[in-house]
Amino acid sequence: MPFRNRYTGLIENYRDRLPVHDDTRIISLGEGNTPLIRLNNIPRLIGKDVDIYVKYEGLNPTGSFKDRGMTLAVTKAVEEGSKAIICASTGNTSASAAAYAARAGITAFVLIPEGKIAQGKLAQAMMHGSVVIQIQGNFDDGMRLVKEVAAQAPVTIVNSINPYRIQGQKTAAFEITEELGAAPDYHCLPVGNAGNITAHWMGYKEYAENGIINNRPVMVGYQAAGSAPFIKGEMVDNPDTVATAIRIGHPQSWDKAWTVQKESKGWFDKCSDDEILTTQKLLTENEGIFCEPASATSLAGLINDLKSGKIPEGKKIVCTLTGHGLKDPETAIKQSTAPVVKIKADLAEVKKAILDNMSE
Ligand SMILES: *Cc1c(COP(=O)(O)O)cnc(C)c1O
Repeated sequence: MPFRNRYTGLIENYRDRLPVHDDTRIISLGEGNTPLIRLNNIPRLIGKDVDIYVKYEGLNPTGSFKDRGMTLAVTKAVEEGSKAIICASTGNTSASAAAYAARAGITAFVLIPEGKIAQGKLAQAMMHGSVVIQIQGNFDDGMRLVKEVAAQAPVTIVNSINPYRIQGQKTAAFEITEELGAAPDYHCLPVGNAGNITAHWMGYKEYAENGIINNRPVMVGYQAAGSAPFIKGEMVDNPDTVATAIRIGHPQSWDKAWTVQKESKGWFDKCSDDEILTTQKLLTENEGIFCEPASATSLAGLINDLKSGKIPEGKKIVCTLTGHGLKDPETAIKQSTAPVVKIKADLAEVKKAILDNMSE
């Protein structure tokens, strides 16, 4: 049988475009190479003639795009002799940091907002053996504390202010352009700290400057209405949204994201929590794709902009689905309206349940 090249993660795959040496010990869990799935049903359901693709980043090893940046951040931390990493997190960064630290054999300290992190993410941080520090405050408080403590203790910050995170995350744009043969017309993302939108733009620009593609997308960033500093035009002190992964009022990549907006001629807009949850369900029920609430913000915002005509028909659009739906089972079950039929363990009753619930 012929050998198929084994995929061994994004650093190996894009070695010549990332800051590693020949002898760098690479800390990888096979991240990247996630599916780009064309939506078959939703364009018809919303009555729009558009090509929408979703980049399903929830299929990374720990269930979010954070792994793209974390593989490089931890690889470089280890190369530079670091024995411990630290991050503030709304959940996914801590899950990813914990896993890559376990892989590397170093310690991860994770600061998370008490009561505001999804169950799956907390389970990951705990199972991978990180030191979980729950603070009575939000992500922004945690981020401030992490910066202060890292200035005084021998720990490497692996939040997206770590430049290696952004370098690793730019590879998503490489994968998309390679698969489509060009950049899409529009690229829509949920925005929290705005590291990911910055990273994608970096990737598209790099491929354009190297002549690999000759177009660049319009970058569109969507935030949850209760946590929307980019739409307000200023920092927000008490952000709130069901999409906990983007519950951030003081984005760390503020200036960089405005540069992305200007250079790509894009914009920021917001979605209500209702729109976010409705879209999460739309995607789950009609395409078979389960993402977490924050991720659905990219598609929820796109649907608004398609309905208003701001994004015209006939375009090719990519939405990043940043994290997996299994991260937050509580929110999913709470909003689910799927019938749960309770019966006796009896053949006739099972048959009746099937006939009663058969769709046409
Ligand atoms: C981290 C995260 C985001 C936000 O990404 P930023 O780079 O902070 O803008 C969005 N969705 C999910 C699921 C995340 O984990």
